[in-house]
Amino acid sequence: VGMPDILDQLYAAMFGIFAAPSNRWFVFYLATSVLAAWLVFRSHAAKDPELKAGGFLRFAFPAEIWSHPGTRVDVFYFFLNKAVMAAAVAGSFVFAYAADALVDMLFALVSAPQTLLPGAPAWLAVGLTTAIGILAFDFALWLQHYVFHRVPVLWEFHKVHHSAEVMTPFTAGRMHPVDEFAGYAFSGVAIGLTYGVLERCFGSTLEIQLFQVNIVLIAFFTLGFHLRHSHVWMPYTGVWGRIFVSPAHHQLHHSIEREHWDRNMGFIFAFWDDLFGTLVTPKAEQKVRFGVNGVEERDYDTVLKLYWVPFRKAFDLLRGRRTSMEPLAASRAGDGRSDLGDGQVGTGAPFGP
Ligand SMILES: [Zn+2]
Ligand SMILES: [Zn+2]
Repeated sequence: VGMPDILDQLYAAMFGIFAAPSNRWFVFYLATSVLAAWLVFRSHAAKDPELKAGGFLRFAFPAEIWSHPGTRVDVFYFFLNKAVMAAAVAGSFVFAYAADALVDMLFALVSAPQTLLPGAPAWLAVGLTTAIGILAFDFALWLQHYVFHRVPVLWEFHKVHHSAEVMTPFTAGRMHPVDEFAGYAFSGVAIGLTYGVLERCFGSTLEIQLFQVNIVLIAFFTLGFHLRHSHVWMPYTGVWGRIFVSPAHHQLHHSIEREHWDRNMGFIFAFWDDLFGTLVTPKAEQKVRFGVNGVEERDYDTVLKLYWVPFRKAFDLLRGRRTSMEPLAASRAGDGRSDLGDGQVGTGAPFGP
């Protein structure tokens, strides 16, 4: 691998993501989120002359959010960490292929035939692999997220994501490499295992099945996906809100209120949270303040701290002492609530799927 290759790969990881339809950062998905924000604005502006007079741009891109120090950290961290994570993205395929190989080994051990259901129609094979693939992928992400919320030493790494007090789409990239890599590992294993089995049933290739899953993700990314890290309130309520994670579901996940802690860990589907008792569906209109607990956010105010502080806190936690960086009563597990700073407040417009 020569120097130009490495630079090409870094460029692709940092900027190529905006031009790749298979990537959530594809400009088209960002544009559809702007469109969704415009629909929210339109429904809200009809009964709010002040909002209407301010105009859509002021609603969608408020200066107090985009000039907030936290947003500056998010934007710098976003591009730097995309480069840092480039190796992990490539590495994630190792998990899928290793899990797939493991299944092949197990089938070989029991001398199973190469294709269990050779006569199955193509539509059934494609339909089943896509459905089971997307369910396995989404459950793996839910499980990884759940584990990083409930295991204290892992929570120190996931806390980076929750330390954002204002959110823009860039906040989605505010993930510690340990956290992000675990996401790739969990979803890689899930996809590899399920496809290993399904490949045996239908005899189609792993690559084609991965492509089918990408199609579902692409559809999902067009539905205002990027509003989940923003101030624009777009809730799915009622039965929709028990099936799909709306932007507002995830904004509640980022809420500073104790009743919202460790809720709505879902990525695509809300029913995992429903099943495990961690679902809280958003109201049509609701104010949400974002952050960890109103105290610890200040520990993550530079790009360097986003990388370093989790290691320091995890180390202190493992040694059984409270970190010096943590002000009194700051631990989320303990009585972490205190006077809340000026957090971001959602605008709360009713908008169904
Ligand atoms: Zn979380
Ligand atoms: Zn988030």
